[in-house]
Amino acid sequence: MEKKYSSILILGSGPAGYTAAIYGARSSRKTTVISGPLLGGQLTQTSEIENYPGFPEKITGIELMDRMREQAENMGAEIVEDTAVSVDFKKNEVVLDGGDIYNYDVLIIATGAMSKWLGLPNEENLKGMGVSVCATCDGFFYRNKIVVVVGGGNSAVEEALYLANLAQKVYLVHRRDKLKAEVELQKRLLEHPKIETKWNKVSIAYEGNQTTGVTGLTVEDIISHKQETIACDGVFIAIGHKPNTELFVQQLDLDESGLIKPMQTGTALTRYDNVFVAGDVQELTCCQAITAAAGGCRAAMTALTYLDKKQ
Ligand code: NDP
Repeated sequence: MEKKYSSILILGSGPAGYTAAIYGARSSRKTTVISGPLLGGQLTQTSEIENYPGFPEKITGIELMDRMREQAENMGAEIVEDTAVSVDFKKNEVVLDGGDIYNYDVLIIATGAMSKWLGLPNEENLKGMGVSVCATCDGFFYRNKIVVVVGGGNSAVEEALYLANLAQKVYLVHRRDKLKAEVELQKRLLEHPKIETKWNKVSIAYEGNQTTGVTGLTVEDIISHKQETIACDGVFIAIGHKPNTELFVQQLDLDESGLIKPMQTGTALTRYDNVFVAGDVQELTCCQAITAAAGGCRAAMTALTYLDKKQ
């Protein structure tokens, strides 16, 4: 265990965290990013990104996050691969899983969000045995196999399209009769010869066990209540995200879905005047790399103004 100090301490290494680090370190103040459990954040689990400005040839999520990290490091930020396990806002202190304790002048919370799971009975047992939330991580194992994607938003459609490049057949199971994904993505999905949609179906059970892995997904039609089992080798869940805010419960203002509520809409301000918030941890409706990066910039600039005033 070591006591450490960083004037600007940033929790999270997604686009919000790295952007805050670029702005923070550029001010020549000691700036440290605590990566969290997934270095580079959720974008490292997406496939190609075609809507981040400046990359007309598309870029993979991993490469985009590597480049952001490199840019932050070039500016002088330190990236620590560890996870915060407690925060004491009154003592300006963060304890890391590895045992180190950081004191800070300002804290920027950019801990992001993580994928939701269906919560079906044998889900825990079948994670890594056919049930996944990451097509780019696990899709490789389903070459020429049959997979199901559950969900109706951009993530589900992107996962289905990605998997259709590898798998023999992809079913998209959605609990409604229309998707909420962007029109262009919907068009690509609906026209894809390997993808079949299953509308108005709720998932009720995974078939299979730890020996066989997943062998199917049983779904129920919400209108006819008829059940059917879709035989498959894998099930990919893409039903949205929940913010990583467990550390802040009862310390910061959270809304009913767990998002940190800024003191004023459109700002990075929290109830502590040296604590700022950015990215998916405070806003999941847009959930874009560019909006998270913009949030990181806003949080860092607000933090720097606070530090300048204090001097
Ligand atoms: P969304 O919240 O947009 O969509 C979640 C989908 O999952 C909805 O269709 C929802 O159905 C369904 N769902 C939720 N809970 C359940 C459940 N328990 N069982 C079955 N279905 C369920 O999440 P996404 O992860 O798709 O996207 C999150 C944000 O990220 C969005 O703002 C999206 O635009 C953005 N994003 C953008 C991308 C891009 O620009 N290329 C790529 C990926 C994400 P219902 O409609 O019935 O609630």
